[in-house]
Amino acid sequence: MDDFEYFVNKVNDFHGHICTGIVLGTRMSMAALRYLAVDPHGKKKNLICYAEIDRCMTDAVMIVTGCSAGRRTLKLVDYGKFAMTLINQDTGKAIRVTVNDYHRSEDMEETKRTIMAIPDPRLLSFKDVYVTIPENDLPGFPRKTATCSVCGEQIMDGRDTEHNGAVLCKGCANGTYYRVISK
Ligand SMILES: [Zn+2]
Ligand SMILES: [Zn+2]
Repeated sequence: MDDFEYFVNKVNDFHGHICTGIVLGTRMSMAALRYLAVDPHGKKKNLICYAEIDRCMTDAVMIVTGCSAGRRTLKLVDYGKFAMTLINQDTGKAIRVTVNDYHRSEDMEETKRTIMAIPDPRLLSFKDVYVTIPENDLPGFPRKTATCSVCGEQIMDGRDTEHNGAVLCKGCANGTYYRVISK
């Protein structure tokens, strides 16, 4: 089994199927690790990853890079793009990987075969980038906590805002994504 097969199977165990997003995410993540000279089978320490889509690809990015939301090492910035940036926190070196256009067919199996036949340098584009990670986004102990003056809920990591001198959570300040129907 080659490395790609090994990792795509590992992603499949988590994601439940191998779709084009999984193939792309696995290829992108493996290429990004290689670029930062990180052994994909080793301990992947001090990496932070930004994934730019909330679709299948991001599950592959999580499994292959070892970055996760719970460790605060996987950030979702939903640009709706098959793109990711992997950062080595030790060196500050960061690489953004995007997917070049390729022929999509109605048949996913055919599209997968198409993608697999395209070598990395043609399938993927790479750019050296610099990412300033806000201190409150870093892993580790929370640097700031606050309590919302309206709902009384605790707010971690500097996500609180101030309005007319009062501390507010984002929900109370800007409106919530949910509507309470019972208390
Ligand atoms: Zn999928
Ligand atoms: Zn609140």
